[in-house]
Amino acid sequence: MDLFQFCRELPKVELHAHLNGSLSKSTMLLLKRLNADSGIKDETNTFMDEFVMGAGDTRSLSDCFQIFSIAHALTTTPQALQMATSLTLREFQDDGCCYIELRSTPRDTPHMNKNQYVDAIVKGIKNPENLIISRLIISINRTMVTAECDAITDLAIEYHKKYPDIVVGIELSGNPIVGEFQNFLPALTRARDAGLKVSLHCGEVRNPKEVLDMINFKPERLGHGVCIHPKFGGTQETWQALCNSLIPVELCLTSNVNTKSVSGYESHHFKELYEAGIPVIINTDDKGVFATSLSQEYMLCAETFHLEKEQIARLALSACQYIFDTECRDTVKTKVLEFMNKHYICSY
Ligand code: 5GP
Repeated sequence: MDLFQFCRELPKVELHAHLNGSLSKSTMLLLKRLNADSGIKDETNTFMDEFVMGAGDTRSLSDCFQIFSIAHALTTTPQALQMATSLTLREFQDDGCCYIELRSTPRDTPHMNKNQYVDAIVKGIKNPENLIISRLIISINRTMVTAECDAITDLAIEYHKKYPDIVVGIELSGNPIVGEFQNFLPALTRARDAGLKVSLHCGEVRNPKEVLDMINFKPERLGHGVCIHPKFGGTQETWQALCNSLIPVELCLTSNVNTKSVSGYESHHFKELYEAGIPVIINTDDKGVFATSLSQEYMLCAETFHLEKEQIARLALSACQYIFDTECRDTVKTKVLEFMNKHYICSY
């Protein structure tokens, strides 16, 4: 079996995927049709081509945050959001993903409030046709003021109580040059005390103090972790803190390359983290924006860092350890182990 086929068939776990950044072109076209049929006007025709931020794109990480408004214009009704969720989950499933934690930022639109927003995603997740095990992480955006952040946290706690088997976590994302982590600490602490697991976008831009504060908070996972190693804008102290904490890092190779957060695949910090024994998880981030898939991310990682199939399978296996729904860990792990046994890949 060639490497591409292997990476596709390998049962994989996706732990860092933003819903509105994950919409494929075909999903966006179906949403446009749904909106047109429902009499919902959108202006996305002009901008659809700007949604994908491919290799060699002149735009960078800060420009990337404008791009999401294109997807947001398509997901303004509960029907559209539910459909976007279902179709996106199906695409991950077709790509060999067996467990996903989708994340999204609840927002008010002219056609729904934040509660209806979360309800719509939960309905999409509950679609009985989906075989993939799907969970939801509620996102807080760094641009939010305290009152907004508190409202999102209340919502996350409310839905975690209502759907403990679906809403499993809370995360902090959005433009990393906006906002201060310390301002989000009370809300994140409250969410954690209520039983939600926490993931933090960390070190996307150089900010050693914030990286240290985030690591000290001891979230269950960190996202990206670009500027932590001294080679990439971190310091000895940030690197040492990560090595001591061994907090798993959700890595998104193509996202970091296409936003120019790293200079190329070869210089991606996967290498430093992997060699230091820090738990790493391969993810897509925004598969629509970055025109990628989870199997492609595994393949790029294998090719760039010359990993054997066994090492790739072990990455998928170890990712199971870090899923927020602890009840599911063994089920998902068993799927990966079965694949490894079937393909005579040492599983112990
Ligand atoms: P949504 O939360 O609307 O479903 O997904 C899009 C949102 O995810 C964006 O508006 C942004 O807040 C967040 N996001 C997506 N990709 C990235 C990323 O690479 N870095 C950061 N910090 N936030 C992101």
